[in-house]
Amino acid sequence: MSRIALIRCEKNEDRCPLTGCFQCLDEKKEGFAHYTDAALVGVFTCKCPGDKAVALAKILKSKGAEVIHFCTCTFATKTGNGWDMTKGGFCSCIDEIIDRVHQETDLSCVKGSAHLPAGYTADILV
Ligand code: SF4
Ligand code: SF4
Repeated sequence: MSRIALIRCEKNEDRCPLTGCFQCLDEKKEGFAHYTDAALVGVFTCKCPGDKAVALAKILKSKGAEVIHFCTCTFATKTGNGWDMTKGGFCSCIDEIIDRVHQETDLSCVKGSAHLPAGYTADILV
């Protein structure tokens, strides 16, 4: 079984209760499509400027997380034609945050969760 954690963005914490993320994990689709068996071990909210993301990820790791998914809304925006990543999402530095978390925790990291933009594949940093 893969033990999954999510890191979301504080800019969306009062608007989205992660419903789509949880649903996609439960149904093993979108950013979670490659899992056959997965369980959620925890969720944290990143706070700007993102300097605590590594510390949050280390706590998630201590709770058993093997993979951290970063929510799709950090890098993509909802449009009338679905989710689009050409103009980015809530976070302009999400790639740097993901790289740092991966380097400093040795956890696998995935950029994406629910409703992936068309043509986008959520690659895993292992
Ligand atoms: S990716 Fe979608 S479902 Fe998940 S927190 Fe962002 S807006 Fe909500
Ligand atoms: S650093 Fe990025 S992901 Fe973290 S809270 Fe700020 S905008 Fe959101």
